[in-house]
Amino acid sequence: MLKPDMTMKMMMIVGLIWESTVGIFSRGERTEFEAASDPECNSVDSRHYFADGDNLGYSQINRKRISMDLWNLTSQKLIESFQLDPIKENYVRQVRDCIFSAVQPEPFKSTVKLVAVSKEVVEDLLDLDVSVTETKKFIQFVSGAWILPGSVPLTHRYGGHQFGVWVGQLGDGRAHLLGAYVNRHGARWELQLKGSGKTPYSRDGDGRAVLRSSVREFLCSEALNYLGIPTTRAASLVVSNDDVKRDQFYNGNVKNERGAIVLRVAKSWFRFGSLEILAHSGETELLRKLIDFIIKQHFPLINATNSNKYLEFFSHVVTDTSYLIAQWMSVGFAHGVCNTDNFSLLSVTLDYGPFGFMDFYDPNFVPNTSDDEGRYKIGNQANVGRYNLDKLRKALNPLLDPKQQLFLIIQKCPVKQLDVYSIRTRAEQVLKGYPDLYQIKFMELFKAKLGLFGRDKNDEYLIAYLLKLMEDTRADFTMTFRQLSEITQQQLEAHSISEEYWALQDVARHTKFLYWVNLYLSRLKRNTVDSDEARRNRMESVNPRYILRNWMAESAIKKSERNDFSEVHLLQKILRHPFSKQVEAEEAGYSFRPPPWARELRVSCSS
Ligand code: AMP
Ligand code: MG
Repeated sequence: MLKPDMTMKMMMIVGLIWESTVGIFSRGERTEFEAASDPECNSVDSRHYFADGDNLGYSQINRKRISMDLWNLTSQKLIESFQLDPIKENYVRQVRDCIFSAVQPEPFKSTVKLVAVSKEVVEDLLDLDVSVTETKKFIQFVSGAWILPGSVPLTHRYGGHQFGVWVGQLGDGRAHLLGAYVNRHGARWELQLKGSGKTPYSRDGDGRAVLRSSVREFLCSEALNYLGIPTTRAASLVVSNDDVKRDQFYNGNVKNERGAIVLRVAKSWFRFGSLEILAHSGETELLRKLIDFIIKQHFPLINATNSNKYLEFFSHVVTDTSYLIAQWMSVGFAHGVCNTDNFSLLSVTLDYGPFGFMDFYDPNFVPNTSDDEGRYKIGNQANVGRYNLDKLRKALNPLLDPKQQLFLIIQKCPVKQLDVYSIRTRAEQVLKGYPDLYQIKFMELFKAKLGLFGRDKNDEYLIAYLLKLMEDTRADFTMTFRQLSEITQQQLEAHSISEEYWALQDVARHTKFLYWVNLYLSRLKRNTVDSDEARRNRMESVNPRYILRNWMAESAIKKSERNDFSEVHLLQKILRHPFSKQVEAEEAGYSFRPPPWARELRVSCSS
């Protein structure tokens, strides 16, 4: 039998925690920041704000616009803040001394079809009535064929560490930032096309994205949003008949696929790699300018005159990144390519490629078939987050006080006295708090998944034990938690687990399952002032019944490739309410055991 003292070891085995060290910024110190209200009613990305200045005069409108006339974007703030790449020609090159290059999107040659729209993004974020999406102008706009007045399409210069190696310049090789829209709540959203043609950053690429990867990005970014996880959003998906050549599994089998474009929406598209490229190329003043801009726009609680502002900024990113990864883990999401160029400075999920939701619980789950060594396996995401944050810390170094000799003194100092010491050394201290921040968030989320109130010294053990049982029995991660939310305490006590609880039946085959159930039931009894119905409701509201499993995305993609977008629309509809049982979803088998062919599915980096 597993003993409580094995908890730490077991948690490490399942790749969830590290040795603890104490973080400089405790959760308490973050309260004010986190509690500030977001003017954006429908956004889960409620931690970041923006300063006024992009006022287009639209913030007063109360009704949604029914035409694109008078609707406008602006690139003004970015252009005024940063000198653009002086080279105007669009050819692949190493770019220096700028953040953006102005480049026009390349419209498709063939007819373009709008195949999916997120009504919520269009209406709630962009103030457009969804009927506008049926107009020719809208389709031209979202396919890069019509540039709105005020919009100066920009491509962003960034670099990155890919699979642990600094690779230098990457940048928007197939994306164009069209500009920002300030909506009626005063929220500023940046609109970006993905798959819209070549740029100076395209390297060997063709600047395009194919339908299958675009369907996946469109569906998953919206799905994560409705799971309550910070993410970029997707407004629309268009497909063309332009041929795009792809060797999907890198085995010499090159095929023509159809080019597609997703209109993506985020408060900011800056990544860790946005800062890294400037630090690596010694462009310190531009680095300072960019961080100052990001702090001013998105971190208004950081006092711009404070000498510790870069440290505070780093502290925010450390905290929010740890929380984001804990949230991914709570729904079994593996990003797949956790390179520093794919990590957002606003800690939102960014750049959907070979991601995957794991079906059966497996800490070694690797969604990306191109990731031979499993660097980005699900159980390693938190470690990789720390690695990436360390790269970010190094990128900030040119702006920090280099008094490293104070390091040892600081370790002995009470936290409150730290202000007088080296900022750079403190950045290391902040990073040392990352495992604890992650662990705290992880426990908060998983305790909620089990419906637990309060604190018990054996809670980690209880959670780790269940995960180990699931691992041993290859039980479905999502449905085990969901079915624990649906089953009554009485049924659990009576060990009466009927067929509808198929994932729980799998776990129940484990010889230690009864032991765990007894621990769980006695822990639930410590939830005073609780009814079983309340527990189930609570658990159902955090344990999704529907996630975007690979087999579901694949089924929708196969149909899309035959011009049938019905399953894309169905998934969109279902995943908008992942916590509610829905008739259509049940008919489609979305809560059933994944079909055997799901295990054969492979997703590569090719997109
Ligand atoms: P990703 O793996 O999608 O995050 O992309 C990594 C880098 O490769 C980024 O700089 C992308 O802009 C670039 N990239 C990916 N696919 C293409 C493509 N088809 N054409 C041009 N650049 C691309
Ligand atoms: Mg990327």
